Amino acid sequence: MGRTQKKNSKGRLDRYYYLAKEKGYRARSSFKVIQINEKFGHFLEKSKVVIDLCAAPGSWCQVASKLCPVNSLIIGVDIVPMKPMPNVITFQSDITTEDCRSRLRGYMKTWKADTVLHDGAPNVGLGWVQDAFTQSQLTLQALKLAVENLVVNGTFVTKIFRSKDYNKLIWVFQQLFEKVEATKPPASRNVSAEIFVVCKGFKAPKKLDPRLLDPKEVFEELPDGPQNMEAKVYNPEKKVRKRQGYDEGDNLLYNTAPIMEFIETEDPITMLGKLNKFDVDPENNEWKIVNKMKQTNKELLACIEDLKVLGRKDFKMILRWRKNARDLLGLDKDEDNDAVDVNPLTEEEQIDKELSNLQEKQRLSKKREKRKKNETKQKEITRMQMNMLTPDDIGIEAANLGRESLFNLKTAEKTGILDKLAKGKKRMLFNDEELAQDNDIHIDEKIVRERDIYKDTDDLEAEMDSMYDNFKQRKSERDAKFRARQARGGDNEEEWTGFNDKKADEGENEESDYEMEDTGSELSDSDDDEAITQLISKIKTQTSQSKLSNKASRFFSNPIFDNIVADLPNKLNANGVDSESVGDISKLKPKSKANAAAEQIDQQEVDSSDASDSEDSDFEIVANKDSKLEDLDSDYDSEEEAKRTNEEKHKKELDIATVEAMTLAHQLATGQKTKSDLVNEGFNRYTFRDTDNLPAWFVEEEAQHSKINRPITKEAAMAIKEKMRALNARPIKKVAEAKARKKMRAVARLEKIKRKAGLINDDSDKSERDKAEEISRLMKKVTKKQRTKPQVTLVYASGSNRGLSGRPKGVKGKYKMVDGVLKNEQRALKRIAKKHHKKKK
Ligand code: SAM
Repeated sequence: MGRTQKKNSKGRLDRYYYLAKEKGYRARSSFKVIQINEKFGHFLEKSKVVIDLCAAPGSWCQVASKLCPVNSLIIGVDIVPMKPMPNVITFQSDITTEDCRSRLRGYMKTWKADTVLHDGAPNVGLGWVQDAFTQSQLTLQALKLAVENLVVNGTFVTKIFRSKDYNKLIWVFQQLFEKVEATKPPASRNVSAEIFVVCKGFKAPKKLDPRLLDPKEVFEELPDGPQNMEAKVYNPEKKVRKRQGYDEGDNLLYNTAPIMEFIETEDPITMLGKLNKFDVDPENNEWKIVNKMKQTNKELLACIEDLKVLGRKDFKMILRWRKNARDLLGLDKDEDNDAVDVNPLTEEEQIDKELSNLQEKQRLSKKREKRKKNETKQKEITRMQMNMLTPDDIGIEAANLGRESLFNLKTAEKTGILDKLAKGKKRMLFNDEELAQDNDIHIDEKIVRERDIYKDTDDLEAEMDSMYDNFKQRKSERDAKFRARQARGGDNEEEWTGFNDKKADEGENEESDYEMEDTGSELSDSDDDEAITQLISKIKTQTSQSKLSNKASRFFSNPIFDNIVADLPNKLNANGVDSESVGDISKLKPKSKANAAAEQIDQQEVDSSDASDSEDSDFEIVANKDSKLEDLDSDYDSEEEAKRTNEEKHKKELDIATVEAMTLAHQLATGQKTKSDLVNEGFNRYTFRDTDNLPAWFVEEEAQHSKINRPITKEAAMAIKEKMRALNARPIKKVAEAKARKKMRAVARLEKIKRKAGLINDDSDKSERDKAEEISRLMKKVTKKQRTKPQVTLVYASGSNRGLSGRPKGVKGKYKMVDGVLKNEQRALKRIAKKHHKKKK
């Protein structure tokens, strides 16, 4: 890596780098000594003599000369030359040499140093172990110089690298100083292994044991204790790195030994921990015996091929196998015999032993079962969290199901639902009992039962869909028939009899959901005009008498029926229609006009729903489009609650969405139209279209055009336009997101500046004025970003401005002198654009 590249690489040019530049320090490491000095009682301020070992480029010397009292003696030495600096004596020398020692003595004369600093780092690049060792040696050398030159109670600050020598060095320091503390100043990068040790209170012993400063003695290697192979074998997953290198003579990375040696050894664990493989000699007679053992299977042979990849279970298995092999070969015979000879058990003791064995077994099996259950539960919960289960499936029952029951592919394959499983359509859960019976008998029944029990959402949805399809089909068929009959004049033998008691009683019957439609077929056709109105009136009567099924009465609890039931007058309207059926609408006195309009539109929808498809309706009333169905399906706890919910829903969903509907609402509100007009308009030439035997596509297409053209007013159109504009004015998701992002960025920027300002504020090296200036500079940067670009005024260099140097008269702010050609060009462009615009018009 080149020098520049290194400097610019990520993270190197941090804030300390810039701060050092700003302050005029030669290196960012100056802040390390500043921070150490601050943390350890400002020792530099009290030092009159300071020696800086390994000082180049000299930033620590700079700090010392700044902080130490005036006229202090500061000496800096380094193996590389250093640029001279005021108030500091510098010289070039290797601190490990006698030359350095004597030159230092020459500069020191009779003085003693209050502080010795050492930030030495050997020229790195020799490899980690080598670097660390030289560093430790350099430190010890620095300590040697410090011991020679320090005053009693003096301070020694040194850098150490985290290595195996660390503790040894600390121990040496502790012998020579009162207080030894390790620290890592914030300016020292986390990625660096360097640590600084501050040794205070030099003891200045009169007699010094030379071994204390002898690298050979200090860093002497002690033989390693026995390794814990047991831990290695029983916890093979925890790999301990060999930071210390390899054992002596252990030069091979791949070690093998004959398998028979493993069987015979008294320390099998160590072998398992050290070796990579066991060699098998097929000609070995003992091996031939062992090989005949049942346990000498393929798995074992595979395991002994690569011991380093084995887990705890595998090692256990190998050790069990070894024991059996030893038994077979009679290697453990003596021990066994000894054991037998010692204590022959009495009958009672034998029974006791067996009993306790049985109890132990039972306890273990219980424990195993419990663990299995817990695992199953855990799995279920995980599946639940991943939306793979419904809440009903978890819990005790799920836990009881047993582990293998969760997902039994074998059974799935046999029963043929594997495909579905693969597609994610089915989920299988079998219990233990069924697994015990497993596979051969009643498998189909079992699956059918499973399907019933664990019918998942897909099934339910599919069922709902098909039910709804049926409903729609029946509805359209009935409508078509009904209309055809109406068109033919119909036969009026049958009178509407309402819901018979039997049906009403079948509240929970699914069919009752469609009672509204069933009634259609029971209508008497005595009068075409009266048919639908009669239907409504009868329903209302029924509702008021409360003879309906629960679901039906919930349906009629919809607010649109409320007033109708309440104000039923027994009069005929102008058309001769029984007012019980339609006149009720005209007699209504709603609370507000707008409400009235809306309700009438709703009512018209209800009236015409049997006569024409709801899609054909001229009024796109959002309210209650699907509410009928929803209401029937909904399952409220109480009727009141259902009613309340319906009311709320009705209010929320009521919306006039088309110009036609708005016109009608206006007309109703202003009294231009009455409710009976509305009802009458509901019956027009399109009302009873004969669609019998017509293809569905034709009916659908016709429906778009076979409808009455309702007049619309300008006011209504304006009202709808206004409404749409209000809707459009709401910010779209993307805009809102962009705004939020912008805000987030601004906040992040502000946070960053706050942090920077905090740092500046904490910097004890800076004067208050400096701090204030820096912070205001930071703030300016932010405001600059937010400011819009200043407008530049173009000034044409023509007329009085021709050849003008300096600001033209009457021009404020930024300006730019341009020649006349540009002016003409711009004018031409404007002209052309204008022409185009006119042509387009
Ligand atoms: N504290 C210094 C500063 O702030 O400017 C930076 C010191 S720098 C990290 C380490 C220095 O140790 C290098 O300049 C290197 O030349 C010096 N060094 C390494 N081995 C040395 C030795 N045997 N004798 C003298 N200086 C040595």
